[in-house]
Amino acid sequence: MTNNKVLAIVSGGLDSTTMLWKLQADGYEVMETISFNYGQRHTKELDGLEKILSAFEEQFGREIESKVVDIRVMRDLAEAGAVMGNEELPKQAYDAETQRVTIVPNRNAVFINLAAARAVAMEYRYVAYAAHSNDHSVYPDCRPEFVEAMDRALELANAWTPVNLMAPFVNSSKADIVRVGKELGVPFELTWSCYEGGDRPCLQCGTCIERTSSFVQAGTPDPLLTSKEWEEAKTYLPAPEQ
Ligand SMILES: [Zn+2]
Repeated sequence: MTNNKVLAIVSGGLDSTTMLWKLQADGYEVMETISFNYGQRHTKELDGLEKILSAFEEQFGREIESKVVDIRVMRDLAEAGAVMGNEELPKQAYDAETQRVTIVPNRNAVFINLAAARAVAMEYRYVAYAAHSNDHSVYPDCRPEFVEAMDRALELANAWTPVNLMAPFVNSSKADIVRVGKELGVPFELTWSCYEGGDRPCLQCGTCIERTSSFVQAGTPDPLLTSKEWEEAKTYLPAPEQ
């Protein structure tokens, strides 16, 4: 029997949530999610994860285990930038230069390696993460070259117990992800993207701008926005990078 079991790296955000629905639609068995508390500014995304997994269970009748791994030691090892350190988060812009401050050193390689250890131990065939093409210019660990190299490294490192890396959105834009998610009935209202941890999205930080402009581009309203905010967003937001 084919082993279609997947360990999905998730954050509670739009991309990794949509990835769960896509893996299910593509015939994979998501067995478990893994998330990381790495000393980021807030863990609001992770707080929403439980509701997301309940919604998944309700829609597909399958329960997914979830695991949150504390790797706050990353903060001692690599305190730098805005996400882990104390630098200001960039506002009102989402280009490569201003977003570089949000890089967490070697983040995805660390996440994927820890996830792979779990996958091997549990005999899951795949580790999946939600890298997408809008991130290519800022985060090198979201590029196809990295996915291929990491996949190969996991194969070599675990030759007797094969595990492979999947990145189903690596060639998709965030707007494409919104389109896929809408089609698959993803509960966008449960997902959180803002770098700030407030009650409402700030609509000013890079991820808010990226998220909103992706919904605008996909032509579907973000349920986190009021209808007034949505109308405004449509008039001023630039189209995201492709
Ligand atoms: Zn924000």
